Amino acid sequence: MHGLMMEQPLLISDLIRHADRHHGSTEIVSKRVEGDIHRYTYRDAHKRARKLAKALLALSVKLGDRVATLAWNGYRHYELYYGVSGIGAIIHTINPRLFGEQIAYIANHGEDKYLFLDLTFVGLVEKLAPELKTIKGYVILCDRARMPKTTLPNAMCYEELVEAQDDRYEWPTFDERTACGLCYTSGTTGNPKGVLYTHRSTIIHAYAAALPDTLNLSARDCVLPVVPMFHANAWSLPYGCTMIGVKMVFPGPHLDGKSVHELFETEHVSMSAGVPTVWLALLNFVKENKLKFSTLKTLVIGGSAAPPAMIRGFRNEFGVNVLHAWGMTEMSPLGTAGTLKAKHADASQEDKFTVQARQGRAPFGVDMRIVDTQGRELPWDGKAFGDLHVRGPWITSSYFKGEGGDPLKGGWFPTGDVANIDADGYMQITDRSKDVIKSGGEWISSIDLENIAVAHPAVAEAAAIGIVHPKWDERPILVVVKKAGAEVSREELLKFYEGKIAKWWMPEDVVFVNELPHTATGKLSKLNLRQQFQSYKLPSA
Ligand code: AMP
Repeated sequence: MHGLMMEQPLLISDLIRHADRHHGSTEIVSKRVEGDIHRYTYRDAHKRARKLAKALLALSVKLGDRVATLAWNGYRHYELYYGVSGIGAIIHTINPRLFGEQIAYIANHGEDKYLFLDLTFVGLVEKLAPELKTIKGYVILCDRARMPKTTLPNAMCYEELVEAQDDRYEWPTFDERTACGLCYTSGTTGNPKGVLYTHRSTIIHAYAAALPDTLNLSARDCVLPVVPMFHANAWSLPYGCTMIGVKMVFPGPHLDGKSVHELFETEHVSMSAGVPTVWLALLNFVKENKLKFSTLKTLVIGGSAAPPAMIRGFRNEFGVNVLHAWGMTEMSPLGTAGTLKAKHADASQEDKFTVQARQGRAPFGVDMRIVDTQGRELPWDGKAFGDLHVRGPWITSSYFKGEGGDPLKGGWFPTGDVANIDADGYMQITDRSKDVIKSGGEWISSIDLENIAVAHPAVAEAAAIGIVHPKWDERPILVVVKKAGAEVSREELLKFYEGKIAKWWMPEDVVFVNELPHTATGKLSKLNLRQQFQSYKLPSA
């Protein structure tokens, strides 16, 4: 027997309609590419998203069409999130930090019909335009006065396009399984693969993201997403904050420590989210200038492992709580968050840090397991580690256009991460499976080695990689960037490891460099680093 509740599809347009009605005067503030501050409300944003929807229809964008963006976090990008998906088209957020060829590949593979771009990217796109086979027109996110002279064919001005329409528009209703967004993963090998979200998956994910034990979003908060809207939907914040009516602050391209800190203070930001590299810059800036955070309570750190030294630093020196989260583009992206349980209430601060350094627990909606190389499930004892598999309603079932074949294993999505899970369900990533260091048939966690290195006061950033060894298969070395003006020798750093790891985990060598390679999403690029160290010889080999 079916129940008797209303059938109402879960649609993205309902988020902004709700925010307009219930949080109409709550602000959305943007530091624009133009350099100034723009502020308006959810009500204004909804109005403009409706005008944009009409403009898209006038450009004959239809259900299922892909509309691409190359844009920073800002109110116009936010309007596109709602205007495009709201009419049943698909917003394809492209990461501008990718190589030109990758951007062209992605736009062609996605068969994008229009490309909306920030002023910053006009030069880049002019070069790529001859390669972009399906794009009918380019819309530059600015007003008429700032429209640049451009060689882009069929270039249009966003403000003119939007303002030519009125806001008399009712969002259409359609199947909640309709695609709403497309985001390509920057896989380390092969071509990027597209993850295609649905309205349903996005809404359920936003609910889960907002929960107290996940991102804990509330209408009393002010959230500044540093994580870009072109990286896994800015971890759901443009959806989750809209659902809850949170004041949002968009930093545009201004992501240096000074700009971010300034916005935190002037807008009274209570929560922010991003990858560790951004927080490293912020932490250094704030320390160097003897500043503090007056309103910031929580920093969500994910995308790469949050080093325990960073978690400690923010708490002990600035009273800011770090919420360690893990996820991936294929998971919309939230997988786990490291909030504590009641049993930790009386734990020492050190013990709390130990729990927080793990990547966290899964909210309802994410099912996890760890398996050995034969696919046998491993126990949750905090020690056994293996391949991490996930399943749930906001996790991908296959890639766009079936790229790469069926990714699932018996209904589970293999994350490519290696992890252990403890008896309380706290998961800890020990490595990307491609990055584990295999020594004498055993595995060494590169993340553990890196976390220890960055706890040394003279180390800014560190990467551990395996180097081929004639006897042991591989041995770890450490590649280190020192903090400006700080000194540490190879021997001092190795001594720092004593007592912290098993002897056979000890790095064989330390190599100091000026900088480490990063991917387009701000993660250490171990692939590039291994290539750089291809001809490196271990002292013992
Ligand atoms: P992306 O799809 O670009 O967001 O990358 C997802 C991958 O980033 C995951 O599979 C992990 O390898 C890595 N990752 C994300 N969050 C964390 C974290 N908190 N700790 C360690 N690795 C992480």
